[in-house]
Amino acid sequence: MTVISEMVPASHGRAYRMQAGQVAVIANLHGNQVVDAWALSETDPLEFSSMDHTRSVNSSIYLEKGMKVVSNRRRPMMTLLDDSALLCHDTLLCPCNAEIYEQLGCDGYHRSCSDNFHEALAAKERQLPFTPASLNLFMNVPVHADGSLERHAPASKAGDYVALRAEMDLLLVLSACPQDITVINGDDRTPRNIAIRIAGEYPEALQ
Ligand SMILES: [Zn+2]
Repeated sequence: MTVISEMVPASHGRAYRMQAGQVAVIANLHGNQVVDAWALSETDPLEFSSMDHTRSVNSSIYLEKGMKVVSNRRRPMMTLLDDSALLCHDTLLCPCNAEIYEQLGCDGYHRSCSDNFHEALAAKERQLPFTPASLNLFMNVPVHADGSLERHAPASKAGDYVALRAEMDLLLVLSACPQDITVINGDDRTPRNIAIRIAGEYPEALQ
């Protein structure tokens, strides 16, 4: 049974309660949109998805199909059950924040994934006094042997999706990244909405 089926509006964030075993399918409707993602435990207020621990457990700087996202207590939180484009999702770069946009020359307020995270938490009556590193779904950051990295437009195409299975009761937080200055959300630098569907079984979540 589908529990939730909706859009995360461009440049905004949303949080979704998931029970262990439920699957979230996140669809890149336009192909170009990076989605910053976090998970927070529903039972421990200070347990959250940790990219440091995730890289350690997977022995990889990327998240790829079959790998797990683990918490700062090294417990499995989510599994990347499926990935239509078989991408290397970034775990290295920080979520965008107000200071990045200021340094990029923006005048006045610019929405950011960090602010989206805290807004989405507040809507579910949760809070954290800091912003954990995000899992950057669809974000295309190739890393070279010399340790340097590049920032490219997403390699996904319209309709590509990932499926994340919750391994514990958690709050899934998503931000449709508002970055419109660099090409990280595509060459047209236009943030777009994304679709999310949560269901009890994986194939159901695809429909
Ligand atoms: Zn962002």
